[in-house]
Order: sequence, then C-alpha cells, then structure tokens
Amino acid sequence: MEREEAYIGFPPLAEKSTIVEALLTDPPGIRWRIVRDLFQIKDQNDRQEIIETLRLHLEQMEDWRIRNRIILGLRALHQIPQETGYRLVRLQGALTPTEVEQRWPLHSSWSDRPLLPVVDFHIHPKMPDLKFFSDMRAAGVTHGVILATDTDPNDLDRPEVRSRLHQAFSSSPAARGLSFQSLLRHIRASLYSPSHVTNEDVADWIRDYPDRLIGFGSVNLSKDGAYVRKKLDELQRFQLRGIKFLPYSQFFNPAENEHMGTVMEFCRQTGAVILSHSGCGPGPFEIIELSQNSHPALWSQWLAKYPDVPVVLAHCGSYSTAVPGIWLFDTLQLGQKYQNLYVDLAAVDWLLDREVVIREIRKTIGFNRVLFGTDYPLPLASGVSWASIVQRIRVNTYLTSKEKQKVLGQNAARLLGLG
Ligand SMILES: [Zn+2]
Repeated sequence: MEREEAYIGFPPLAEKSTIVEALLTDPPGIRWRIVRDLFQIKDQNDRQEIIETLRLHLEQMEDWRIRNRIILGLRALHQIPQETGYRLVRLQGALTPTEVEQRWPLHSSWSDRPLLPVVDFHIHPKMPDLKFFSDMRAAGVTHGVILATDTDPNDLDRPEVRSRLHQAFSSSPAARGLSFQSLLRHIRASLYSPSHVTNEDVADWIRDYPDRLIGFGSVNLSKDGAYVRKKLDELQRFQLRGIKFLPYSQFFNPAENEHMGTVMEFCRQTGAVILSHSGCGPGPFEIIELSQNSHPALWSQWLAKYPDVPVVLAHCGSYSTAVPGIWLFDTLQLGQKYQNLYVDLAAVDWLLDREVVIREIRKTIGFNRVLFGTDYPLPLASGVSWASIVQRIRVNTYLTSKEKQKVLGQNAARLLGLG
C-alpha cells in the first residue's frame, strides 16, 4: 500500500492482510504500532477495504483489549490525513518541505539543535505521528517526555478496591446524586479507553524518534509482586527513563503500598525518575474523596528515605475543576523540605499567571525544580494549541527570563541528562 507523501524515511507499509492480522493477533500491550501506520495510508479504497474487514472481526472479538485496539484502528482509518505544512521524517520529527529538500539525506538531527532546549515533561502520545510532531515543532518544543498509563478496569472487580472506593464515595456529597453502580461504570470506562497507551507503545514511539522523545512507562502498584517485578523488567528492557504513577486510578496509597520500597530501590539503581499524578483525577475522580491517594503528602517518607531519587509531582498538586490549586501549598511546602521533589505544570499552567503563586514558588521550591508540561493532547479538546501554552510562558510578565528558560527546558534537560 502507498504511504502519504508527508511521511519520509519510514519502512514500506505492510500488506492489508498483514495489517489486519496484526490488529487481531498482536499481544494486547501492542496497541498503537499498526494503528500509527493506518493514519498514513494514502489510498481511500485501501482504507475502506480494511474498514470493512475490521468491522466483521469486531463483532466476534471477545477480548476487550483487542476490541479497543480495533476501534482505535477504525477511528484512524476514518480520519482523513490533515495537511499540516510539515513533513514527518523518521528519527527527526517534523521539518518544513524546504528543510527536507536542503538536508536530505539527513545525517544528524543534533546539528540544528537549538542552544536552549524546550522540554514538555508530560505528554500522552495519542495522536497521529504527523499531527503530533507538527504541533510540537510549531510550539518550538525540542524534546518530549511521553507517558504510558498502566490502569486496568478489572481492578474494580477486586473486593478490596471496591470496598475502599465505596467507603470513600459514601462520604462524599456526590453520593447523594449518583449511585455507586453508575460511579463504577464511569470509572471502568475511564480506566482503559480505546486510545490507551502501554509501555510497549511508548517503546515503539521512542524507537522511531529517539532524539526527540523520552519514554516513561507505568506500573500498576495495586497488583502483586510478580506483576510489579515483570513491569519493572519491562521498563529496563524498553530503556524507559521513568515511571508514571496514577495513584487514584491505580488504586494504591504511596505511603502504604507494599511495593514502594522495591520501586524506590529500582529507581535508585537505574536512575529512573518518578512522575506521579497529584491533585484530583479527571472525570469521576474529580470527586475529591476518590482522589485522596494522589495527595502530595503521601510521598514524604519516600522523599526522605531516597534523596537521590527524583519524584516529579505532576500538576503541582493543583489539578481539580472544583477546587483549582487544591493541594498547591502542600506540594510547595513538601518541595521546600525535600530537594528531590519536582513539579510539572501540565494542565495547570494558569498557576504562573498569578503573581502570588510565583512569589510562593520562589520562597519554597524555587524555579530550579519546576518543569514545563502540557498533558498534550488534552488542551486540544478545549481548542488550546500546544504553541499557545509555550507562548503564554514566554510572554509571562512575572517571571524573569532566567526563570522562563529553566521552566521551559533547562531543568528537565538537567534532570534527564539531555544534551
Ligand atoms: Zn497526564
């Protein structure tokens, strides 16, 4: 099959039958590998043929994870490739057509590397490659940390998880207007969406763009020791540089979890960075009582015991629609106490628009440990471009230009050993 001209340097697309076979029989952890190719098919008839075959298989498929992969594939096939003005070059990222002409064959992506890196520390890779890298290039972002999320709807069938959720929910005002059963349905749907990203997916992206992307895997710590060990091995095998935790939707309390010691030892030995969600979660987890596992204070004993393991609290403890900035000050105070605590600004970049917050950051954690992040592609859903978020920091009148450079990339580059 023919590939869209915008993609350069990629191996030829597989035959239709091979593609369908892979979507049906690949291990469930491989979710985006083939789907990313589907976005790139040029011919509309080719797309239509695969759509029809997949529809037949979707009806008979029993494994819900494979069903979700087929749905993801069908969505990709229905999406007409958008002209973004950029070409996507394997190993390089997005280039303008002129740049491609002047520099083809491309040797080293490092020669044009800007002096100041701009690093987005919080990305969910859920877009076609071309769109993703075009947006990244337009934003002037040079490097991105892409994240897996290891959540499992089957966790909700475990009595201990269910009873803890029930207890927390019963104590919340939301319980007056919503039944526990409907809450569970909402949560189940949120734990493994068709566009879910696995450790294998992150490894696949890194292989194609090793100079642009840094991969973080994810480990669900509510599972047993064998599972956790297997996932940690996976992180090493895939050369992932950090671990993303979602305590609210992985149903574990960092202060009490039995695997936490193993995880911290792993990080100490491998140099892996922890990135943990903090603040409320999205959707059903906006209910504050259900997001208590994501309170920053639950990390304090680990920060104290492992001063050489960096822990990044995503969203700066501030994510919440009902109470924006919910645990901001708890987070900053924790950071004042522990030098290995970092924060990212994903989905809470509004914090830097408040002079009072800037002053508080300077007084507590300082700007050496604040990392730019966007939660991309989340902002796109509300019409906010990646570029506009970078721009908002660049024109910020409260921050000094040194502080801006640190936040936008220098801190992350130091933490990840880039350049
Ligand atoms: Zn996120």
